[in-house]
Amino acid sequence: MSRQAFVTRFAPSPTGYLHRGHAFSALTAHEAARAAHGRFLLRIEDIDTARRRPEFIAAIAEDLAWLGLDWETPVRVQSEHFADYAAALASLQARGLVYRCFKTRAAVAKEIGRAPHGPASPYVGAPLQPDEEARLISQGLPYAWRLSLAAAERALGGLGALAFVEEGEGPVALDPARIGDPILARKDLGVAYHLAVVVDDAAQGVTHVIRGEDLREAAHVQRLLQALLVLPTPAYRHHPLILRPDGKRFAKRDAGETLRDLRAHGVTPQALRRDLGF
Ligand code: GLU
Repeated sequence: MSRQAFVTRFAPSPTGYLHRGHAFSALTAHEAARAAHGRFLLRIEDIDTARRRPEFIAAIAEDLAWLGLDWETPVRVQSEHFADYAAALASLQARGLVYRCFKTRAAVAKEIGRAPHGPASPYVGAPLQPDEEARLISQGLPYAWRLSLAAAERALGGLGALAFVEEGEGPVALDPARIGDPILARKDLGVAYHLAVVVDDAAQGVTHVIRGEDLREAAHVQRLLQALLVLPTPAYRHHPLILRPDGKRFAKRDAGETLRDLRAHGVTPQALRRDLGF
């Protein structure tokens, strides 16, 4: 495989210190890149500028270097690319593929709870009538931008032809029930996770998205966005999550399990790597 043929990334959000789960994910991607003679990139997903903290960004590099990983520079930092995300959103707006959503989280949660398919299905809404929308805008109410799944299906002539490859499993057809009308721009940020990830994976030439099982559903939304924005489609590999001894997921607030805590307690990177199966 040529050097360009395999590009993967580790994309943490700097809202806390990295823990064992992050170490496993970063090592999995790094190891895959090494095995394929490919490239390993780091991306700092800090669009949530209220929650990101500079010390967490610095700690990511420190912790990954301690683990023995290396990555290409410059590192892509999402907060430096708001203009790219705005351009992608503008292209969707121009084609009538997104609509303003003024609803609060609580209102959306309530509607999902009442939906015929039950609370597991994502929210599907609809644009407001123009006069109602104008009234809310004139009141200065904040709004998010949601992708309209119905408009996307019309624009693409259906979703039937869309799939992504889950490595080790094969092609996975897009499932509209996992997509709904996702938020592409949060009320407070002007962008949201899915849009930033899709724009960045393309900008960085990522060919293989390697990340935790918890983001498997996200691939359905992201594949749809790639089709709408005419971006290349990477292959996906969603790895099992490393769980705490009690079977729960690691959370950023779990004291004692961050990589810096482990380090402070004398755990060596070799021991941790072994422990994680590397
Ligand atoms: N920033 C996301 C996280 O910390 C990962 C995004 C991705 O890998 O697509 O969970």
